[in-house]
Amino acid sequence: MLELLDISAGYGDTPVLREVALWVPPRSVVALLGTNGAGKTTLLRVASGLLTPTTGELRLDGHDLTGKPPHVLARAGVCHVPEGRGVFPNLTVRDNILIQAAGTPVDEAIEKAVSAFPILGRKLRQPAGSLSGGQQQMLAVARAYVTDPAYVLLDEVSMGLAPVVVDEIFEFLGRLATSGCALLLVEQYVTRALELADYVYLMNRGRIDFAGEPGELDGARLMEQYLGAR
Ligand code: ATP
Repeated sequence: MLELLDISAGYGDTPVLREVALWVPPRSVVALLGTNGAGKTTLLRVASGLLTPTTGELRLDGHDLTGKPPHVLARAGVCHVPEGRGVFPNLTVRDNILIQAAGTPVDEAIEKAVSAFPILGRKLRQPAGSLSGGQQQMLAVARAYVTDPAYVLLDEVSMGLAPVVVDEIFEFLGRLATSGCALLLVEQYVTRALELADYVYLMNRGRIDFAGEPGELDGARLMEQYLGAR
């Protein structure tokens, strides 16, 4: 279980998260939805060790990992796919995969990434920066997959992509979830996120104001509060 307990966090003197509690049980899909600037990205940054909370605890499988750096969280099975993808544009697709897959035999890592998104197999020698936005996002997700994570944190993977590409990425995320990997999804495509989610959290101005199962959500309130929901 990945647990964020009473987390407050911010940047310098600016508080963003205010006593937030969120749980990602193993093998579950959790959707984190909210208005722009609510603090969703900040919460993912805390969950992957990129940002140390000012108060509260980050726990993984019962161990307190608060304040531990990202590589410790990554080694413990928490992988973050950041907003903006985080691929290295000047490195080839192959090297982007291998950089993340340290320790995994080369052929195995490449094969695994290509099994997620076959198009990557035809682009292995190209610089990642020459790929389309959708292909770069596939690469970012595939890189996470090759590390065999127990928890993947995904920040707006569908941002700016054509619906057909979003379909392909969500289809893979569905397979990943079925294989037993837990997902924490921050998503603008509310309906797609809710289709996959076991639990949903709504965030507004740094606080969680709903936590429950998708079926318990008040659809009208959701649409009103999250206009632009697709
Ligand atoms: P969005 O959907 O717009 O990405 P979000 O819910 O992910 O929003 P965050 O990116 O976590 O929200 O931002 C929450 C608040 O923190 C915003 O007011 C933002 O301006 C502020 N913020 C984010 N990053 C920084 C930073 N590096 N330094 C200072 N303030 C920041």
